[in-house]
Amino acid sequence: MSPIDEEQLQGLQGVRDFLRIRTSYDVLPLSFRLIVLDNDLLIRKSLSILIQNNIVSAPLWDSHNGRFAGLLTSTDFINVIQYYNQFPEQIDNVEKFRLSSLRDIEKAINVQTLETVSVHPGRPLYEACSRMLRSRARRIPLVDVDDETGRETVVSVITQYRILKFIAVNTEQHTSLMKKTIREINLGTYTDLATCKMTDSVLDVINSMVVRNISAVPVIDKNNVVLNVFEAVDVIPCIKGGAYEELKSTVGEALAQRPEDFPGIYTCQEDDRLDSIFQTVRQSRVHRLVVIDDDWHLKGILSLSDILKYVLFYGEEGEYFPHT
Ligand code: ADP
Repeated sequence: MSPIDEEQLQGLQGVRDFLRIRTSYDVLPLSFRLIVLDNDLLIRKSLSILIQNNIVSAPLWDSHNGRFAGLLTSTDFINVIQYYNQFPEQIDNVEKFRLSSLRDIEKAINVQTLETVSVHPGRPLYEACSRMLRSRARRIPLVDVDDETGRETVVSVITQYRILKFIAVNTEQHTSLMKKTIREINLGTYTDLATCKMTDSVLDVINSMVVRNISAVPVIDKNNVVLNVFEAVDVIPCIKGGAYEELKSTVGEALAQRPEDFPGIYTCQEDDRLDSIFQTVRQSRVHRLVVIDDDWHLKGILSLSDILKYVLFYGEEGEYFPHT
């Protein structure tokens, strides 16, 4: 093994050891707010609550059984949009659907029902990460159970973004050893990329996100130059008036509705080393990186799950599953 390979593995091992001795509690800030939505709430109202509070997801609570009932995310709204497109005669029911109907909507449009995985906040962070990656979820709720009453409490939700940031901020001595380029370790997706144009309809882009189970699509021009990235959360402002069936906006119009504090998109190149990617994650609000060449042509996409999977599982017998 070359010295650079050895160093890389040493870095990976260091991060894995760190994740095994830290718990999900360690990732949480000292003080935070958590908005939990009752499962009986109307879907339309839940959307306004997310918008008012400037959040893009929330845990759901089944108050009849006193149990955690899953996570509400932008994917659920995308499913509702799909539902009205497939069953336009149901549009009169738009006012009536409650969050508890989301599972029926998933079934009706035949999308894979998301497992309601959760993890105890006191378990090692490594476990929270691997559960999240195996279930393809981008965030995982931390659910505590009272020993005596058996009652569940949702403590918080942690995202891939938060975990990667936590790794980047706290394990620089390990991540700085990862000197291989993303090309050398084949990190990210470079073939069969889902892309869109500014003039495409949001509905078409949503369709491709649902079919491919991805949450972001690079926006390119006719020369394959990257202009922006359309994200699943960009759908939320488009439907805020409840106009699911009139979703006629183009990608360009939807992107114009982004909040002023939108952090922007992040790019990298195939010759960038993993240590420099971690440096970007440490310093910025990165949710994915678009891989480009010197002239901004689209080459690939590097998602947070691609990075986390590599960091957790690469080199572990039978564990690494980069493109599932
Ligand atoms: P995201 O939430 O950014 O869509 P995921 O982590 O769910 O990312 O991505 C799952 C897999 O799909 C990753 O391997 C990622 O590289 C790939 N992927 C993400 N976006 C696209 C896209 N637009 N086209 C093709 N593959 C993609």
